[in-house]
Amino acid sequence: MENIQEKLIIKKGTKLVTKCVDLNHEGQGVCKIDGIKDGEEVNNFPIFVNNMIPDEKGQLEITKLSKTYGYANVVKIFNDTRSKNRTRPLCPNYEKCGGCNIMHMSYPYQLEFKTKMVKDTLWKLGSIDNVEVLPTIGMSNPDKYRNKVQVPFRKTFYKTVCGFFAKDSHNVIPLTECLIQPDISTSIIHFVRNMCNEFKIDGYVENENTGLIRHLLVRTNHDLTEIMLVFVLTNSELPYKDEIIAKIIKRYPNVKSIIINVNNKVGNTILGEKCLTIYGNDYIKDTLCGLKFRIGPKSFYQVNHVQTEKLYNKAISLADLNENDILIDAYCGIGTIGLIASKHVKEVYGVEIVDEAIKNAKINAKENKIKNSHYVCNKAEEQIVKWKSEGINANVIVVDPPRKGCDIKLLETIDEMNIEKVVYVSCDPATLARDLKILIQKGYKLEVVQPVDMFPYTSNVETIAYLKR
Ligand code: SAH
Repeated sequence: MENIQEKLIIKKGTKLVTKCVDLNHEGQGVCKIDGIKDGEEVNNFPIFVNNMIPDEKGQLEITKLSKTYGYANVVKIFNDTRSKNRTRPLCPNYEKCGGCNIMHMSYPYQLEFKTKMVKDTLWKLGSIDNVEVLPTIGMSNPDKYRNKVQVPFRKTFYKTVCGFFAKDSHNVIPLTECLIQPDISTSIIHFVRNMCNEFKIDGYVENENTGLIRHLLVRTNHDLTEIMLVFVLTNSELPYKDEIIAKIIKRYPNVKSIIINVNNKVGNTILGEKCLTIYGNDYIKDTLCGLKFRIGPKSFYQVNHVQTEKLYNKAISLADLNENDILIDAYCGIGTIGLIASKHVKEVYGVEIVDEAIKNAKINAKENKIKNSHYVCNKAEEQIVKWKSEGINANVIVVDPPRKGCDIKLLETIDEMNIEKVVYVSCDPATLARDLKILIQKGYKLEVVQPVDMFPYTSNVETIAYLKR
């Protein structure tokens, strides 16, 4: 006879011993528990746990519950069940910082996780199971890869501090070091914070929308010979501007661009509309797949140079380009993919919504002596309809949308134009799955899926999907 008293009562604060059976898409361990929740019996109730790996057993404490799932913290992992895929995180801030979330996994296991996660997501959200998902392309040395760092600055009792947001919060963890960004970026951040305190420049106070400095953005090129600093301020006046600039360039001569960006709006968006260049150029230059690119403060640029070259080369080789191809580069940013592909094709048509990025795409074409590319600043979903009506006979398209994926109008027009080859570069497997499902329903065949590890130590992944008519 069942005795309800003996069953686990599932509520906040419940301590239990259980085993991890899977990972969710964020790399959290998944445990399935039985018990009584809100007076009713539940079975296989999923609990997500940071820092736990399949097959490990441990003691957990439930921290949060919703109707269909919950969260728990690890109290301890039983030593004899410790996964061989576990490693000691090298970053001292790992447990607190919201930046990395799978640093407790060995690097080969991180890659395995990403491959499986992409596969599972395509199945769960796109009903796609008959496609080859190739092993995630990793890095030989996955450290210090991030070429763009955006650090929040905040005011505390007496001083201005900066660092990273703690997991799921806006509490700033003071930055000591960071394993995924170049040392010079960390050094510059410390230097600017010290100057803010020296010159009494207040950090932002979020709940009052007061203070001056909200973020510092540091962007570096691949060989660290060009660095851009963007001071995100609540107004356009940086006190002691000339002294600050002089100090920065004396200490860091590779800083080639200093910009003030004004953002006085409440909310999480980092950059505001207005940019003022207060030192040097309004761009830095980088070399990618043999071409030179100008990157402005508001333009998108992939954060991991080594992996971006692998990503673009793979995307281009999958498309099997030839000299008669007419290529659309949708969501083209500063023109990277299309310009790198341009030597293989007849014409390239790029579209992007950020005006500054399109200006630089045009300059990037010129500087690289590329004559067969054409750029328009517009929404991709609107411009493609225009191109269609103008009779642009594109037979290949690369789409590289932001996390929210492609607008349905774009997918419909790809189908209506009967574009033969589609290369989809995605930073979110969930929206990728949704959009692939639509293209497949329209008669495209998904040939292959290739994840690329653009963001080691985090659960994010970049994925290329190649479809053919
Ligand atoms: N392909 C580029 C940029 C990819 S990031 C690269 O690899 O560097 C996605 C880009 O889409 C961003 O530059 C963003 O500004 C742009 N974007 C977002 N929504 C858009 C839309 N509706 N139409 C066109 N571009 C858009």
